Amino acid sequence: MAKIIDGKTISQQLKDELRQEVAQLKEQGKNCCLAVIQVGNDPASSVYVGNKKKACTYIGIESLSYELPEDTSEEELLALIAKLNEDKNVHGILCQLPLPKHMDEDKVIQAIDSKKDVDGFHPQNVGALVIGQEGFVSCTPAGIIELLHRSGVEIEGKHCVVIGRSNIVGKPMSLLMLRENATVTVCHSRTKNLPQICKEADILIVAIGKPQFITAEYVGEGAVVIDVGIHRDENNKLCGDVKFDEVEPFASAITPVPGGVGPMTIAMLMKNCVEAMKLYS
Ligand code: NAD
Repeated sequence: MAKIIDGKTISQQLKDELRQEVAQLKEQGKNCCLAVIQVGNDPASSVYVGNKKKACTYIGIESLSYELPEDTSEEELLALIAKLNEDKNVHGILCQLPLPKHMDEDKVIQAIDSKKDVDGFHPQNVGALVIGQEGFVSCTPAGIIELLHRSGVEIEGKHCVVIGRSNIVGKPMSLLMLRENATVTVCHSRTKNLPQICKEADILIVAIGKPQFITAEYVGEGAVVIDVGIHRDENNKLCGDVKFDEVEPFASAITPVPGGVGPMTIAMLMKNCVEAMKLYS
């Protein structure tokens, strides 16, 4: 039976550590502040934004909320970002994606000061990750590294297979595993022989965006399986990219959905925000 990597407990530990640190910083007169921008009212985005604000409250980070109507112009959004970039009391700026279709997401991401880019999406931070320099790292992959470390999974020298090459998950994930001295294989929609490649993995990280795609035929005996996917199944129950019941007997450790990778993302956002204040204010 596989060990269950408990993201709920680990993210709670992380949030409690941050809460303590934020309280100590407050005693020195340093108040951490995150600006959260949402354009339009996409229901999923509203849930994510609500959870991020809740985490801020728990940890003691002030959150400034900017809820802009769907028809906000790109210029108006860029003007708000410029104002927040200048504001010395704001340490992190988060612009919830996706943005409405009339906006250029890349342009908006690049407008955020890279020192306040707590999502780790700015090209300067992405570039820093590529060449091994310090910078903010995308929260979901950074959270997976934290999960692996805190669960005692050894990474160095292991063969890690990452499925997915998105800018938010797959690419930064593979770079982080490389930084941890894993041997990394990146698979994507054009990869041939996916089951064979996955079966060779010591650590299999699945960010494919397809419900319960990964079955037992993809998983070698004793592999560590990290499931990034979040979906609703036909019974409206949450599930991941991995068919958990089928894969779990072969794995040595596995993340569940819910309660695996998901809770780590927000915890790492909070960590980035505290870092931003410590490094740049
Ligand atoms: P995405 O759709 O941008 O990327 C999916 C990737 O999977 C692509 O790079 C594609 O090449 C690859 N892929 C698609 N079909 C494939 C196939 N048949 N074989 C091999 N590779 C294939 O998705 P994303 O933004 O990287 O997210 C992936 C999943 O993770 C989604 O389910 C998303 O909801 C979830 N997610 C979860 C969190 C979290 O906090 N837990 C955060 C971000 C994303």
